[in-house]
Amino acid sequence: MPIFEYACQECGKVFEKLVLGKSSSDLACPHCGSRSVEQKFSAFATAAATPKPSGASCASASG
Ligand SMILES: [Zn+2]
Repeated sequence: MPIFEYACQECGKVFEKLVLGKSSSDLACPHCGSRSVEQKFSAFATAAATPKPSGASCASASG
């Protein structure tokens, strides 16, 4: 489920929102109604976006 976490900059509340489309213009805090929200990274999202170590190949050890 493409659920993103947002943090309101006005009241400081954190809420989740289901994003179906690519862009979410209609985004406002459900608590105070402010549009000053910042997108946070979910736990499952960060796990999938782990930076892979470059230069790791096992096909170069001969001789
Ligand atoms: Zn708020």
